[in-house]
Amino acid sequence: MRDLIQVQGVVISAAPVGEYDKRIVLLTRERGKISAFARGARRLNSPFMAAANPFVFGTFTLYEGRTSYNLNQVSVSYQFVNLAAMQPGVYYGYYFLELADYFGHEGTDEKEMMNLLFVSVKALLNPRPDDRLVCCAFELRTMAEQGLCPELSRCVCCGKEPEEGDLLYFSQEHHGILCGVCAHGAGDAARISPAALYAMRYMAGAPMSRLFAFGVKEEVLLELRGVIHTYVKKNTDRRFKSLRILEIMCEKY
Ligand SMILES: [Zn+2]
Repeated sequence: MRDLIQVQGVVISAAPVGEYDKRIVLLTRERGKISAFARGARRLNSPFMAAANPFVFGTFTLYEGRTSYNLNQVSVSYQFVNLAAMQPGVYYGYYFLELADYFGHEGTDEKEMMNLLFVSVKALLNPRPDDRLVCCAFELRTMAEQGLCPELSRCVCCGKEPEEGDLLYFSQEHHGILCGVCAHGAGDAARISPAALYAMRYMAGAPMSRLFAFGVKEEVLLELRGVIHTYVKKNTDRRFKSLRILEIMCEKY
């Protein structure tokens, strides 16, 4: 008899295979990023019809095949069906899944990324905060979870902690903030406002359940988008499909 394993996870992508089947990619707490074959998932009466789709959170029972896992049973806890009708919200959602896929690995505990996906996709369903801010928070927190957070508490070069009233700079090249003195020698240092820096520190470190319990003014949001999107682009080497759609739809996502 085949050994069944049970994992808690989220479907981050699903692709048709043959006439009736699907291959899904799961981000799981127990086994990291894995792919599974969902036999018959495209048949109308299949129990996997609703479950083998992106944004589905639940408990997945699998058995190990020779080349991949096979889906045996799914108990769905959330599936965010309303997201599909929301534009551009759904594309932000797909972008989050793509970013989670990019950083996901087999064998790692993906609990924090699963939680981040859950609270972020849920936030897209609410009118507040603005989707653009949800995206900034998701991106920066993803980088933090992956150990790639920029330095936000002291000057990257001299280590000086900023005092109230100090002019602050952010350098993409140096991965963090710079004081006024060190910013002189850094080619790409650009001013960053205290409000934007405060928001970035919050997004990088707030408890997951409180991640979206804040708001910023439009001008701060524009500043955050500039810094954070550029940071993600510079520290990843994939062109994300959903990001291209967002860029076309929203001009500036
Ligand atoms: Zn310095």
